[in-house]
Amino acid sequence: MSARKATQARNRATQLIRSSKDVLVGTHLRPDGDALGSMLGLALALEKMGIRVARLCVDPAPAAYSFLPGAEEIGGEPPPWSAQLGMVVDCDGLSRVGALEPVFASLPRLIDIDHHATDRVFGEVQITDVTAGACAELVFDLLHVLHVPLDEEIATCLYTGVLTDTGRFTYGNTTPTSLSIAAELVRAGAKPNFIARKVYAERSIAATHLLGIALSRLLAHFGGQVVSATLTRADFTSTGAASTDTEGIIDHLRAIGGPRVAVLFVQAENGEVRVSLRSDGTIDASSVALALGGGGHAMAAGCTCQGSLDGVRDRVFAELEKWLVTAGSPDAS
Ligand code: AMP
Ligand code: MN
Ligand code: MN
Repeated sequence: MSARKATQARNRATQLIRSSKDVLVGTHLRPDGDALGSMLGLALALEKMGIRVARLCVDPAPAAYSFLPGAEEIGGEPPPWSAQLGMVVDCDGLSRVGALEPVFASLPRLIDIDHHATDRVFGEVQITDVTAGACAELVFDLLHVLHVPLDEEIATCLYTGVLTDTGRFTYGNTTPTSLSIAAELVRAGAKPNFIARKVYAERSIAATHLLGIALSRLLAHFGGQVVSATLTRADFTSTGAASTDTEGIIDHLRAIGGPRVAVLFVQAENGEVRVSLRSDGTIDASSVALALGGGGHAMAAGCTCQGSLDGVRDRVFAELEKWLVTAGSPDAS
């Protein structure tokens, strides 16, 4: 999106927000730090403007994010009152809100705020920028245009979004803008040490056992170009880990030097298999995920597949093989 179009979108969003008294904010199922930080930071800002807000997500916040202000107010059902406006953050396509899709689709007005690589935009106003490291950066820009002063709570939410989606400012999506926004948020009261501890250093013993099982299942494929690990339902039962305790496991696979792609397969409660993909940048993970019915970013993407673990693994590896061949050998120039 050009700078001029982005300014127009923010101005139009400002008009819609200022003319609304009741707003539904929403984000994607199995919310991550950016989804939650963006939604909760935006919700607090709207409330500061005197707007009634409902925070909606089909899944609750994972325990690691329960420190975020407003996390306890997230609901999976629409409120009893009617809203004039919906604002959906961090979703590449409205279907990512899951069962809440008809709720948002039927609102008079809808704003899409997102930074995914895929172009499944929706709503009457789109504030989208694929170069943003986190959706929280786009919310930050919007709050500036809305003249909502940042406070410690809003800053904590948005900082968490930028921190987590840039992999603690280490992924290729970390830009000078990500860093200056983070600096502004710290100036406004976000506490880097407190937030990093909450998000990264409070893993439970059960979740650490789950991580151990995943690492013990590490496999190399395609001559070491791809690494994978798999978690079955039995692993959750034996460790007592929650389904959200898979967060961060893929980062341990990504930390291996050499492979171009890391894949984590997780058998979900409903029999589906959740697939997380991470790339070193030589393969577009979002294209691989898109071909399998998912989406995401060039270096971090995912999909949810029906079928047995073995069947899904075969499909994912067959798809990956095509992309490994298309992209050529990493040594070829
Ligand atoms: P994850 O591996 O779950 O951390 O997800 C990495 C990225 O892929 C995030 O940007 C997600 O929004 C995206 N993603 C994961 N699963 C899906 C899915 N089933 N459909 C679309 N996008 C997905
Ligand atoms: Mn997300
Ligand atoms: Mn995001």
